[in-house]
Amino acid sequence: MKNVLVGVLMTVAATVVQTAFGEEAAEANWGLMEQMRPDQLESVMKATPIAFVPLGTYEHHGWHLPIGFDAIKAYALSQRVAQRTGGVVLPPFFYGTGGGHVGYKWTIILPEEQIRPILETTLDQLSRFGFKVVVILTGHYPREQVDMVHRLAEEAATRNPKTRYIGLSEPEVTTPLPGDRRRGDHAAKYETSIALALNPKWVRLESLAPGRDPEQVTTPETPRKSSPTHDPTHPLYAIYGQDPREHASEAAGRVIVKEIVDRLAKQTEDALSSTQK
Ligand SMILES: [Zn+2]
Repeated sequence: MKNVLVGVLMTVAATVVQTAFGEEAAEANWGLMEQMRPDQLESVMKATPIAFVPLGTYEHHGWHLPIGFDAIKAYALSQRVAQRTGGVVLPPFFYGTGGGHVGYKWTIILPEEQIRPILETTLDQLSRFGFKVVVILTGHYPREQVDMVHRLAEEAATRNPKTRYIGLSEPEVTTPLPGDRRRGDHAAKYETSIALALNPKWVRLESLAPGRDPEQVTTPETPRKSSPTHDPTHPLYAIYGQDPREHASEAAGRVIVKEIVDRLAKQTEDALSSTQK
């Protein structure tokens, strides 16, 4: 039984790889843009003219998560939605703006004016190529980034009236879990649970340990305060939210991921049908 299951899983994995790389992608309903040839892109776009633009940033995500996690997460979530709806997923865009980690080592936060022209051109080109729906999903969600994404979508829609643009952050399609008032956090219960559900290999909870050398793990610009979030010797350094060691779980992550994918797929499909009326 176990061998049968392994065989089935291997077949599923092979199909996914072939979807991205192989000739079968011509018949698949979705793909990763940078790995697709022009004929494959035409074929997928003709069947489902939807493009996904996943955004994030480079930002310290605690000792236990990758520093690019926001973009990695948005990329993985976009792929799950695309598997449902069809469409083309662009590579993750790792440059973001705003947030409480400016000055932290391994964080690269840019002013909006440095990011905006690249994204505006990308959104306009996608419309010219023939996409009818463009979903801009940010996994990095300080107010500055969320406002930027909303504005980018609105303004792109004005410039390109034939295309519907959906710009949103992941908490906008997330409900607080039972007992919680807030949805979303930074490298705490929510983000860590999502990571555990998407790919447990991204998470090293055992790295949440004290005792690092502040000189080594900060730069001269790094803000230093006594709270755990700002104390580089603390296990919960850089984390905003509930302690992931106690509160994060793969099961919670699966609930959150399912909700995000269900809601985003519905919004995307509704937007596409509105363009076909
Ligand atoms: Zn994050």
